[in-house]
Amino acid sequence: MNTSDCLFCKVLERKIPAKVEYEDDKLLAFYDINPQAPVHLLLVPKKHIEKISDLEENHIALTGSLIYKAARIAEKNHWTDYRLVFNNGAQAGQSVFHIHLHLLSGRKMRWPPG
Ligand code: AMP
Ligand code: ZN
Repeated sequence: MNTSDCLFCKVLERKIPAKVEYEDDKLLAFYDINPQAPVHLLLVPKKHIEKISDLEENHIALTGSLIYKAARIAEKNHWTDYRLVFNNGAQAGQSVFHIHLHLLSGRKMRWPPG
């Protein structure tokens, strides 16, 4: 998909509004429009990468920072227990093809996920 057709690129460019929790030069964290838990954030890299399976070695620091920043955001908000999820591919539940880390918290999580 072209970046101009990408929903999360549009959020990053502020062409689509979002409730932003955190931003730095590498990523934006905003609240999911259809939350699956009392807390449901998405951490989105500013670089357009479609899928986790497309990651290259030079993306290691970027993807690590998504997880690290999720932990820092949770800590700041006193969310002690949470789930971090990447969906890779439609069959796994990916609907937006710009990688994003889900941060879910505020309720008891089931295992295994559906
Ligand atoms: P996934 O299904 O893993 O690709 O996750 C995509 C997520 O993006 C879903 O949880 C959607 O609810 C969420 N979403 C779609 N459009 C928006 C939007 N405009 N703002 C915030 N979240 C969105
Ligand atoms: Zn994109």
